[in-house]
Amino acid sequence: MTILGLLTVLFPHLVCLQIDQVARSGRSVRIRARTKTSQAACPYCGVISQRVHSSYERRVCDTAVSGQDTVLHLRVQRFRCGNHPCGNHHCGKRTFVEQVPGLTVRYGRHSV
Ligand SMILES: [Zn+2]
Repeated sequence: MTILGLLTVLFPHLVCLQIDQVARSGRSVRIRARTKTSQAACPYCGVISQRVHSSYERRVCDTAVSGQDTVLHLRVQRFRCGNHPCGNHHCGKRTFVEQVPGLTVRYGRHSV
């Protein structure tokens, strides 16, 4: 079985991510990953945006694997809402953070 195959079996919710590093840290496993998305829908108005504003790292506690806690350090992107032209506010939000389906929810510290 390939590494990708093993990943697909053990962590099916991480397959859509770019995995940068997997390391043991004490009694837990630390996974550094980032999203590969180039666009996201604004959760407030639904308009798709491709304008990345910034990115930051979220810490998400995931299900234990073989008795070891798994902590996901996930770099997510903040997008500018495309429904927010200067001087004409169509959407109340200037920016929003992408969510990873099946993995993250807004303000959540644990994976779905
Ligand atoms: Zn919006």
